[in-house]
Amino acid sequence: MRKIGILCSGGDGPGMNPCIRSIVRTAIRHGFEVNGYFKGYYGPLNRSFIPMTLSSVGNILQRGGTMLRTSRCPEFLDYENRKKIFENLKLDKVDALIVLGGDGSLKGAQLFQKEFNFPIIAIPSTIDNDLKGTEYSLGHDSAIRNAVWAIDKIRDTASSHDRTFIVEVMGKNSPYLALNIGICSGAENIVLDEEDLNVGELAHGILRGMRRGKHSSIIVVSEGKTPGLSYNIQKSLELDFKLKAHVCVLGHIQRGGDPSPTDRYMGTKMGFLAVKKILQNLTGVICYKKGRMSLFNWTKPIEKRKDYLKSELDLAIDLSI
Ligand code: ADP
Repeated sequence: MRKIGILCSGGDGPGMNPCIRSIVRTAIRHGFEVNGYFKGYYGPLNRSFIPMTLSSVGNILQRGGTMLRTSRCPEFLDYENRKKIFENLKLDKVDALIVLGGDGSLKGAQLFQKEFNFPIIAIPSTIDNDLKGTEYSLGHDSAIRNAVWAIDKIRDTASSHDRTFIVEVMGKNSPYLALNIGICSGAENIVLDEEDLNVGELAHGILRGMRRGKHSSIIVVSEGKTPGLSYNIQKSLELDFKLKAHVCVLGHIQRGGDPSPTDRYMGTKMGFLAVKKILQNLTGVICYKKGRMSLFNWTKPIEKRKDYLKSELDLAIDLSI
């Protein structure tokens, strides 16, 4: 094997750049050339890439986002386009591909490696941390940090003005981001799932707090399938319980900024391991489980994990008394 391709697909996240840096440096050290493909699967589809050098990844360790840029590429769902990508990779003399992305991107990678028997190593990169089989995905820690940083500031104004704030955080319909943000910011309530939402319970929690002298509260809400759930909660609190609440939707601020030390470390290790596995002619997904990082082959379908630690939710509920 002589040449590796790298691409980032789907949502960006802090941790992608440290991972790219690690891949390029490890690969070059082991005698590979590296093509950095731009904008996800569009890169190999349009043969849009740069040959990566040691200096091309200089000074990116501390930067959020991805220097290779990313995209969602609906064209990839079409077999003819995937075939074109396969042919382009052959033209570019790429022997193996490393794909950084969330569950959609990794589903695509799995399909592609199966259809064309092309070696791919996938690296879970999603702030949602919702991939089955790995306890960590790049970007998650930095996204928690960003949200907690913002909520600490909201809390200052909430407590100065005796206000209730509903803070909506990202995570699509995965609970992990909101749960961790809620715990780390000391939220009085955490709404993880639209279906389990009980505004009456929320209201009683706020009123109970007020009765024992609490003047302000923070409710962390996971954006769910339809972002904007916070505004429905706000309306219901006001109409049904005469409770005034302010809404703050954190939005994309959560995915930006410098990668946290954890994301730098995990990105660096995942990238390093990806190249080592290519050297051993292996293919699959780099996963982190029980303190160990290893490669899982492609035999299991890529899925979102749905479980979350009930004990963590219990902890958050107990602390929000
Ligand atoms: P993420 O990787 O962050 O979950 P998306 O779900 O939007 O982001 O997927 C990113 C890209 O991955 C899509 O634009 C498409 O190119 C590819 N992809 C997603 N789902 C599939 C699928 N089921 N089969 C093949 N490719 C897919």
